[in-house]
Amino acid sequence: MGRNVLAQVSQQALRHNVKEVRKLAANAKIIAMIKANAYGHGLAKVAKTIHDVDAFGVACIDEALLIRKEGVQTNIVLMEGIFRDEELELVQKYHFTLVVHHWRQIQALQQYPKTTPEKFKIWIKINTGMNRLGFSPNEFDEAYTVLSNLPHVDLIGFMTHFAKADEKNSTLTQQQSDLFNQIVGKRPGQRCLANTAGILAWSQTHGDWVRPGLMLYGASPFADSTGKDFNLIPAMTLSSEIIAVRDVGMGEKVGYGGTWENNKKTSKIGIVAFGYGDGYPWHAKNGTPVLVNGQRVQTVGRVSMDMLAVDLSSLNNVEVGAPVILWGKGLPIEEVARHAGTLPYELFCRFTERVQVEIVS
Ligand SMILES: *Cc1c(COP(=O)(O)O)cnc(C)c1O
Repeated sequence: MGRNVLAQVSQQALRHNVKEVRKLAANAKIIAMIKANAYGHGLAKVAKTIHDVDAFGVACIDEALLIRKEGVQTNIVLMEGIFRDEELELVQKYHFTLVVHHWRQIQALQQYPKTTPEKFKIWIKINTGMNRLGFSPNEFDEAYTVLSNLPHVDLIGFMTHFAKADEKNSTLTQQQSDLFNQIVGKRPGQRCLANTAGILAWSQTHGDWVRPGLMLYGASPFADSTGKDFNLIPAMTLSSEIIAVRDVGMGEKVGYGGTWENNKKTSKIGIVAFGYGDGYPWHAKNGTPVLVNGQRVQTVGRVSMDMLAVDLSSLNNVEVGAPVILWGKGLPIEEVARHAGTLPYELFCRFTERVQVEIVS
């Protein structure tokens, strides 16, 4: 009822994309990244669909609890570890795995009673150049020594994160990877480095575990490609409909600020029930692609809160109610992102509660 704005998420596509990760990183285990509501695809539904990955990665304990309480038994890694000491009890109770990236987190573990029913499973995060989280090369030895001597800690392995793996010509990824290997040395434990761009472009960094996010949802992190180039299938199709059609004459303008002017005798303008209040990027330029009746058209004028306008002049017989796809099947989200000066990551994460997310087989 009401506005017909819908994000359909395909289970088949999600499963297919997991298989592609397994093909590319055949010797590695998978931490499927499902933080931020599974990049907008629906945390619990995505987790249930691909529960047979080796682990899930989430940003915080709330996300982890949500899927445990939905009955998902898969290992869950808290990628930023604990934010508050009190979380350690829940980590025990629900068998979560921790990333440890800061001395503060080591102190919390040191202070926790050593008589835990099971050991804390942890990954040590190493900062190799991203300068976001992790122990720097000169701190690592000490952090490692303290953690590996704690009787209630089971050190699974070592992690780092790439800053520029989406830039295929940059030397930074290789440098980060070399530094990581040098720091970790021959210490026992698993190695985990690669995000989607690492998996797709830097096979020498696959290590023992990989951490795909974006590619699970069928999109590419590179500026010059789409998921299809890597045999990925977009998991989400975001749709709405045409709610008005009008002819505008030469010299007439469309939308707030009149930023688009018709320079033909007449143009047929369609109004789509989708705007920035639903999560469409306001920055999308004139000419951003949209599918109407399965055909490509372009946006005209500024995006409004609830609506956006498209030029339907190239199509015949478009009526009110015609189906619209904003991205997904037939229209890669990467293209929309490029027109809006943003990334597929951000588009996935920004749409609002107004959009009904539905999982389909
Ligand atoms: C989000 C995240 C990933 C996944 O990145 P993608 O580019 O989406 O594959 C991997 N590792 C860490 C630490 C992350 O935070």
